[in-house]
Amino acid sequence: MTAQAVFLSSARGAIEVRDHEPGPPGAGEAQLEMEACGICHSDLMISTLDKVPLVPLVVGHEGVGRIRALGEGAGALAVGDRVGVTYLASTCGACELCAAGLERFCPRQEQHGFSRHGAMGTVVNVAAQQLVRVPPGLAAELAAPLCCAGWTALGAVRGAGLAAGQRLAIFGMGGLGHLALQYALHLGLRAVAVDVSEAKLEQARALGAELAVPAAEAGRALLKAFGGVDAAIAFTAAPSAIQEAFRALRRRAALHLVGMGASARFDLPLNDTILKGLSVRGSYLGTRADLEDVFAFAAAGVGVPHVERHDLADVDAVLQRLRAGEVLGRAVVRFD
Ligand SMILES: [Zn+2]
Ligand SMILES: [Zn+2]
Repeated sequence: MTAQAVFLSSARGAIEVRDHEPGPPGAGEAQLEMEACGICHSDLMISTLDKVPLVPLVVGHEGVGRIRALGEGAGALAVGDRVGVTYLASTCGACELCAAGLERFCPRQEQHGFSRHGAMGTVVNVAAQQLVRVPPGLAAELAAPLCCAGWTALGAVRGAGLAAGQRLAIFGMGGLGHLALQYALHLGLRAVAVDVSEAKLEQARALGAELAVPAAEAGRALLKAFGGVDAAIAFTAAPSAIQEAFRALRRRAALHLVGMGASARFDLPLNDTILKGLSVRGSYLGTRADLEDVFAFAAAGVGVPHVERHDLADVDAVLQRLRAGEVLGRAVVRFD
């Protein structure tokens, strides 16, 4: 059967399934027979950008597959290994950020499903440098969302730097948020969930959120309930939600921004920031240890994503539902 992949045809263009013959893997590449690939909000964001470095582009940056061929210099991997593909394709390996374990901020990096072809295809060639081994017992549709949603969620929760017993508010209970909630609880934090969708708030309560509140009045509600939270993570780029997250902070607390939007802006209230000693930081992916931990956690039953299964042909329709906030947990394409 001819290999197929989901392409972004041009900047702001159509998302469509096409035949895709990747050819033999090049230097530093691995050819994967894919088992599953999750559909991320960033795929949607990339499809709305005025400029994309590579088009037509195979989209997708959270996939699990098996290595069927290796190019030269592809590292310690072997044919037959089961690996995860993340957004971070390769980095320079030599700069001070790479040396400090902060590869994700390397200025000379490539990204799967953005600056090079991604993982949303039956057979794909990807960069081998940053691939991660995936435990054999973990189902592909559960492992795939860990490569972006899980990794980024754990990176943000750990990056918030809270101690057990402190309060974390999670704004946006989608693919990332519903995993961040599980990680936060596992780390002993008191977690609050915020979303516009009652179905997602219901899911958050079932997962163990101390409180689950609608986004519109969240700031006031969290100030009233606890005098504010010690940190808030915004997995959404909706300015109104970020404003509420900022309002929910207690003195000396921090707001961590994760959800990206091509033209999203947030107005920072100066006096509150200064007089309450507040911080606002970006949080992007996680460390290598975070990536390995999300798989170990999931194998132990912590941070198992709630998923819906799809075929390759469904991707465009799923992206429309994602845009409307209608996907509960993560939508994942299976290739078998
Ligand atoms: Zn992603
Ligand atoms: Zn570097």
